[in-house]
Amino acid sequence: MAKELKLSPSYLLIGSELYIENIVKNFIKNVFCADATSASFGNTSTTATIGASCNLCIECKKVDRKMHHNIIWLEPEAQYTLSDLEPIFKSVVFALEDTKHFFFVISKAQQLSQFCANSLLKLMEEPPRGYHFILTAQTKERILPTILSRCIIQNYNTESNADSVFFKYFNSFNEPDFQGFSQAIQGSKIQESELMSLIDQIYFFWMEKLKILIQENNVDQAILIQNILDLMNKARAENIMPGSGKIFLRNLYMQFIMLLQIP
Ligand SMILES: [Zn+2]
Repeated sequence: MAKELKLSPSYLLIGSELYIENIVKNFIKNVFCADATSASFGNTSTTATIGASCNLCIECKKVDRKMHHNIIWLEPEAQYTLSDLEPIFKSVVFALEDTKHFFFVISKAQQLSQFCANSLLKLMEEPPRGYHFILTAQTKERILPTILSRCIIQNYNTESNADSVFFKYFNSFNEPDFQGFSQAIQGSKIQESELMSLIDQIYFFWMEKLKILIQENNVDQAILIQNILDLMNKARAENIMPGSGKIFLRNLYMQFIMLLQIP
């Protein structure tokens, strides 16, 4: 599908493995899915565009299975070796047509030795048109400075962010904790961008749960989770007015609780 996209040559996404994997998949789906209208890892915020791809078409499914012909997805068991990286060098031959894209996902980028990293640096900096690198890691600490300097870094680690304070209220079927939530929200200075990141986090959490429940044939809970996902998708699409983040979040929590209480 022809789409005008301005993508950088190299990204480094930091965060927990499963969460980042979903972000990467969603991002690439948004590039290849004919239904999607945009693809970005967000601009100033740390959010990714979600819900834009259809998740149903053959392109989306191939990305989900990591079997798309325009992706090479590397997942090393230990340190990377040069032969692990060989598929990359073999693929990058000519510049691609304007609207074509090819992705190299290098997971666990902390396992790139200086030697392996050096072999990639030039390519990461200036790949032929259409090729993109997406590196992932759980933390930034053990990533080589030469790699860091060549990537656009998106940090999805939220321990210190306001959004992580609220995540726990949205991640179980347990009795709602109104009092805890109210107190948290009173003392919070949650930003609109953090809200989006929180919604992403909730969305991916329940999406993973849903996959497991479907495997277990647990229909009742699967329907409930589908409703939660719909709620988050709707929230994601809303335009949050500056300064109205707290009200928005309170409403979202109320709606979430109401879903849980439907027998
Ligand atoms: Zn699709």
